[in-house]
Amino acid sequence: RGEVYMTFRHFQELNDAITEQGGKPMQNPRNTTSGTLKLLDPKLVAERQLSFAAHFCLSDSRTESHSTNLDFLASQGFPVVIHESKLCSRDAVMDFCRNWNTKRHSLEFPVDGVVIKLDSIKNHRRLGTTAKFPRWVIAYKYQPDMAITTVMAIDAQVGRTGVITPVARLSPALLAGTTIRNATLHNYEEVKRLDIRIGDAVEIEKGGEIIPKVVRVAVEKRPVYLAPFEPPAVCPSCGSKLEKLKEEVALRCFNASCPAQRLAALTHFVSRPAMNIEGLGPALIEQLVASGLVKNIADLFSLSREQLAGLERMGEKSAGNIINAIEKSKKNPLDKLINGIGIRLIGAQTARVLARKVDDIADIYDMPVEKLVEKEQGSRDSVGPLAAESIRIFFDRHENRSLVERLRSLGVNCRGAQKVDENAPLAGKTFVLTGTLSGLSREQAKDFIVRLGGNVSASVSGKTDFLVAGSEPGSKLDKAIQLGVTVLDEEHFNEMLKR
Ligand SMILES: [Zn+2]
Repeated sequence: RGEVYMTFRHFQELNDAITEQGGKPMQNPRNTTSGTLKLLDPKLVAERQLSFAAHFCLSDSRTESHSTNLDFLASQGFPVVIHESKLCSRDAVMDFCRNWNTKRHSLEFPVDGVVIKLDSIKNHRRLGTTAKFPRWVIAYKYQPDMAITTVMAIDAQVGRTGVITPVARLSPALLAGTTIRNATLHNYEEVKRLDIRIGDAVEIEKGGEIIPKVVRVAVEKRPVYLAPFEPPAVCPSCGSKLEKLKEEVALRCFNASCPAQRLAALTHFVSRPAMNIEGLGPALIEQLVASGLVKNIADLFSLSREQLAGLERMGEKSAGNIINAIEKSKKNPLDKLINGIGIRLIGAQTARVLARKVDDIADIYDMPVEKLVEKEQGSRDSVGPLAAESIRIFFDRHENRSLVERLRSLGVNCRGAQKVDENAPLAGKTFVLTGTLSGLSREQAKDFIVRLGGNVSASVSGKTDFLVAGSEPGSKLDKAIQLGVTVLDEEHFNEMLKR
């Protein structure tokens, strides 16, 4: 027996994709997981990227303890729940529960409690069960992470495809160990449903997303003079009239040259998971767009050092550094470009899968959906049907192809790496990263592993071959040790990359 769950990252990715498509986001990872398991299409289920952790193994009378059974499951390659093998006193159990009350926030999935089980299977039988539950297991539940604060403003954020997202600006509140200043409101129907007004006291909760959400308005505390909130009628950036697509809940700005959309697209293009151009922050991009030097992503590659140095608050030296960073990004592996050009629903992971499929980005231009979703030999992942649809829509637009071809003519790499080579040094090996590496960023480390044929996974399981542990490793290290996964420090990891 075990539990199927969804990590925060996958939940966030799913909600981003849904919001981007103008749909209603999922409420929390737990409900999304149970809903996903009820889906009839296995392809859709696979696309949701659920995880599994075993917590019980029904065994014959020869095994003595629950913990040996869990060890057995782990040795057979099953991911097993995080557990302490044995705690021998009531105090030790209480300490464990209290410790995890803070530690659980560093996990990649929501945890609302601890399950305490008697280890001896002989005693399980002696204790028996009540009408419904066994007597040898009991749950310890944590207080939900909730805080009350005040809504100072409701801002409209323009995404890179024009979706307008309302964001609540809050007076700073402490929640689950971090100071919260913003809460996502997803869309204006949600604002209406909750009837949030500026000045309201609201309950916020970390429901599994990185940004917390408003779960309830304290109507009983509302001053009488607060007016209902009206959604904006025009784009806060370009002033175009906002509209909804049929069957969508999201308001959108349809102005193709909307500055906020352009800004969001450029910011995404240079971001770490995409082209990773260091030094090009949102403020500088705004400056470049305002000065007319940059209108689209391709314009970045025709910038000169003199043009950059001519900008306000920009020194010769930083201008040079940025030009170098732009130059360096031209040699990026193809998946960085695919992620960067901003196809809806295509994140870093799917971009990698796509890049492995082709020898050149032009191979995707006319690739039919059936071919896009086809799984590559030796690859664990595939492109989902919705993502494939979105790729088609993107490349069926001629201006998108021309933009990519312009990037090519400016020297940006559009060629794929060799397809996964079974002889690649790390072929078939799965890595998990934890802690901080001194010489490499997370993204760089991932890129190296993938380029050498390896896979990178978010959490440690029986399938993990190596855990790369930098300084201040998280709970993944404990788990890796528990499961007997080989742990590499930075030095050994670097050696492996050199081979
Ligand atoms: Zn606009």
